[in-house]
Amino acid sequence: MTTLASPPETLDVLDPSTGEPIATVEIGDADAAVRAARAAAPAWARTAAAERAERLKAGARRLREHVDQLAELQSREGGKPLADSRGGIEAGIGAIEQYAELGPLHRGKALQGGWNATDVMVHEPRGVVALLVPWNDPVAIACGQIAAALVAGNAVVFKPSEKTPLSGARIVELLDIPGGALQLLQGDARVGRPLAAHPDVDLVMHTGSVQTGREIADVVAGRMGKALLELGGKDALIVDADVDPAWAAEQAALGAYANAGQICTSVERIYVHEAVAEPFVEALARAADGWTIGPLIDARQREVVHAHVTDAVERGARLVRGGAVPDGPGFFYPPTVLVGGDRDAPVLREETFGPVAAVQVVTSFDEALALADDTEYGLAATVLTKNPEHAQRAVRELAVGTVKINAVFGGAPGGAAEPARLSGSGFGYGPELLDELTRTKVVHMGIAP
Ligand code: NAD
Repeated sequence: MTTLASPPETLDVLDPSTGEPIATVEIGDADAAVRAARAAAPAWARTAAAERAERLKAGARRLREHVDQLAELQSREGGKPLADSRGGIEAGIGAIEQYAELGPLHRGKALQGGWNATDVMVHEPRGVVALLVPWNDPVAIACGQIAAALVAGNAVVFKPSEKTPLSGARIVELLDIPGGALQLLQGDARVGRPLAAHPDVDLVMHTGSVQTGREIADVVAGRMGKALLELGGKDALIVDADVDPAWAAEQAALGAYANAGQICTSVERIYVHEAVAEPFVEALARAADGWTIGPLIDARQREVVHAHVTDAVERGARLVRGGAVPDGPGFFYPPTVLVGGDRDAPVLREETFGPVAAVQVVTSFDEALALADDTEYGLAATVLTKNPEHAQRAVRELAVGTVKINAVFGGAPGGAAEPARLSGSGFGYGPELLDELTRTKVVHMGIAP
């Protein structure tokens, strides 16, 4: 990202595959966006949930008519291969449709009080919700969160990542929510900070890095506000002694290299049993050779990834594949395989967010499980095993939001988890997100004598 002139008024958007600027975006005013959302909030909250849902469904239809255009935009500014981009956008539109169905069904509870009293629990909109969205799957994440917040009756200030502002702006145009209930705010941390700190924001939902999440948690706690934090991870993959190493290597490559390793639940650490380690690493190296990936998001991200790899090699890891910054334009980095080395190296401790498969060979499942759990993060983990007892132990003993047995990605619709440890707090997905985005009030109605 280029350095901005002061005072900042615009942001350059770069194409990660060339490093060249493709657009300039005007930086917004957080206070103005919050005030506009606040002004729109009462009317939107009074709109029937079914009508809010109809607006969202109409928006989803418009998005569907423009999938190709959105995919192209997201690929240009975010570097995703076009097919991946399309997949993310389809998922995002699906999430809007799901929340449009779920929103009007989001019910309170009737309680058992005195015979002549009525006691109920009702969900109310929180008011103004600020959404701070990252760049790595920007349309999918934004669509789900915007839809959930709006259908629950909140007005929304949506701040796309400064790296993917074009697709963000297009979503807002196509959704076309009336009355100002959906405000677009463009910019980086310089508008993200005042947005998160704004006293008139009732809930901040931040999906992004732990570092930013910490700052937001502090500022929101200071005003007794609520923050939903969906942050980074350092997901482990355990390869047990009894699995087919070639299949395990396919899973590892998919987990480590999909979206060039820039997924919150990318596989970042691999613990493979010594019984299958050799054929596993050989197959993983072949998979790395055959993997085509897009560029990383920017030069800074590539520096972080390369620093982790270089440091790991200095600390004794064997570089089996990749590990070199290629010549030429753009922010490309090759699929990389590392084996062994210091278990306290940043490549095994901090989020790398790049196409790096960092493999450690272990002598038992116990050792693998202990190492997998020895982390500050708690987003997700995967275990490849045929042993049901090992699978059960992984489910019980790993402090993560999501445990996956025998598949690095996937899961049933509606699955929602609370991240553990530094990976965040609160439900960021699924029907439970509607609980988070509403305030629960209990009502007791008695009869006057
Ligand atoms: P980031 O935290 O830098 O930025 C996320 C959003 O917050 C952006 O809109 C950004 O402009 C804004 N922001 C940045 N600094 C801010 C500040 N000080 N105050 C307020 N707002 C600020 O994260 P990123 O680099 O865009 O995204 C990558 C990270 O997101 C990775 O760590 C990844 O694991 C994580 N992620 C998590 C999930 C999840 O569901 N857990 C999903 C996707 C990505």
